[in-house]
Amino acid sequence: MTTTAKPPVEERKRPWPAVNEDNRFFWDGIAVGELRIQKCNECETLIHPPRPHCAGCGSFDPGYVVSSGIGTVYSYVVFHAPLAPPFVEPYSIAVVELAEGTRIVSQIIGIPPSEVRVGMPVALEFVEVEPGLTLPLFRPTES
Ligand code: ZN
Repeated sequence: MTTTAKPPVEERKRPWPAVNEDNRFFWDGIAVGELRIQKCNECETLIHPPRPHCAGCGSFDPGYVVSSGIGTVYSYVVFHAPLAPPFVEPYSIAVVELAEGTRIVSQIIGIPPSEVRVGMPVALEFVEVEPGLTLPLFRPTES
């Protein structure tokens, strides 16, 4: 887990998340090693990405659950171009279906993008992708 202070904007290499009152719980979770998924306090619908109100019942009373970080690749793409530094092509971005029943978009790490498959079991790994920026990425649990 990172304790690195945020670098000045001009020194950042990647797009950084826009943290606001609707998603602050998510990024606060990342800072303490938790993948927090929004859960409606009224109807218990899981919601990701975070939003002000529940898509199930319209409630403005969000809570969250801490994900196990276990999931499977629901879908994915492999980026080859255009080049967008600091990303190193090719890389794979996947929709991961979490064990809790909701999905999250993330990067699959640890294997060549050509080996990513739908249905592949994956597990959460917090990665400091640049100083001060930690993201929830996923690594296959089987080879
Ligand atoms: Zn609801």
